[in-house]
Amino acid sequence: MDLSFSAEEQAFRAEVCGFLADKLPPELAQTVRDGRGLSKDNYERWHALLNEQGWLAPNWPKEFGGCEWNAVQRHIFEDECCRAHAPRIVPFGLSMLAPVLQKFGSKQQQDHYLPRILSSQDWWCQGYSEPGAGSDLASLKTKAVRDGDTYVVNGQKTWTTLGQYANWIFCLVRTDPTVKQQAGISFLLIDMDTPGIEVRPIILLDGTHEVNEVWFTDVRVPVENLVGEENMGWTYAKYLLTHERTNIAGVGFSQAGLAAVKRLARSQMHRGRPLIENPHFAARVARVEIDLMAMSTTNLRIISGAAKGQAPGVESSMLKVKGTQIRQEINDLARRAAGVYAMPFASEGVEGSNEAPIGPEGTTHVAAQYFNNRKLSIFGGSNEIQRNIIAKVKLGGGA
Ligand SMILES: Cc1cc2nc3c(=O)[nH]c(=O)nc-3n(C[C@H](O)[C@H](O)[C@H](O)COP(=O)(O)OP(=O)(O)OC[C@H]3O[C@@H](n4cnc5c(N)ncnc54)[C@H](O)[C@@H]3O)c2cc1C
Repeated sequence: MDLSFSAEEQAFRAEVCGFLADKLPPELAQTVRDGRGLSKDNYERWHALLNEQGWLAPNWPKEFGGCEWNAVQRHIFEDECCRAHAPRIVPFGLSMLAPVLQKFGSKQQQDHYLPRILSSQDWWCQGYSEPGAGSDLASLKTKAVRDGDTYVVNGQKTWTTLGQYANWIFCLVRTDPTVKQQAGISFLLIDMDTPGIEVRPIILLDGTHEVNEVWFTDVRVPVENLVGEENMGWTYAKYLLTHERTNIAGVGFSQAGLAAVKRLARSQMHRGRPLIENPHFAARVARVEIDLMAMSTTNLRIISGAAKGQAPGVESSMLKVKGTQIRQEINDLARRAAGVYAMPFASEGVEGSNEAPIGPEGTTHVAAQYFNNRKLSIFGGSNEIQRNIIAKVKLGGGA
């Protein structure tokens, strides 16, 4: 398998680098580099710049206004964006809902919603998980009962990321409680301004407001907001999840994080010498760097296969587990390198504050990131669930 980049791919990389050098606002890059929280305005500004360039929807077909990039181009783009500390593209509308609408939505839904996603007129959030329905998603209980030309929705979603910014939510709802769990689910598009919806914040370990509970009490949703057929939502939900897992290895994030750890460990002293020279610390850095190089090669192998039309299977689970382990180990090394400066943790350091940071450059956000990234092994299918998949598919064991 050839893992080198072709001349065209290298030219594409140069074009992406040129764009980032010209268009990525330095203050946005600095915010990302410092690990500070991004506001809704920050995300929308970056989306608008990418949209102007025609690069906001790398995975969409051209007929819908996307780039239709192949897996290698998407990898190069994500890689360079990470290196330049660009904000991530918020995935809910662009990478999750849009592919579902493009495949299963009506022409009216495609014509109405897709342009509004590109222009950031709509901010979508994902209403899948519920208390008691996370890993076991098919047991979800939020119900939608047909009443004339509306569905009446009652129930609760949870862990809804950035739901406080959203004006729309796509939801899995139970429309038939009498059949096998997976067979009674539908996929609904719900306007967050509809009476009966309440968004309640959940504050995470790092003190930030990133996720929410969303409560529905007698919320009336027009039937034309149903995607595809009633009770076929599980098929669409699974299709969406295959798109949720793009850039799953997070190689670029880990490379940027590891570089930051090394910078910090060179500047911090331990028993009179730079921490990076401490044998125990250096061995941990070396181990994670080797793991990262191995994962990066595996990732390229899978991308190379995907560019030739091979659908990634259980490899996605392997990348998810290994990629998140590596990122969490890097967070832990950063926390260790920051030493006592990781202790005066305050969410103001993450959200932005007028106070001068305590400790040397690169330490303000370390504790917050360590706490926040515990999520990596939970969402997108927890690592235990991924291991079950690997065991079942590769080792032939029962999960
Ligand atoms: C920061 C964050 C953001 C999120 N954003 C969203 C969002 O925007 N929209 C949305 O719908 N959801 C979101 N989620 C929810 C996420 O998808 C769920 O947290 C995840 O699916 C796990 O479900 P759970 O939390 O209910 O844990 P549970 O499913 O209750 O699992 C608890 C523990 O048991 C383990 N476990 C469960 N079943 C098995 C099994 N069969 N074998 C072995 N171990 C098992 C799990 O791995 C986990 O360690 C988010 C979660 C987090 C943490």
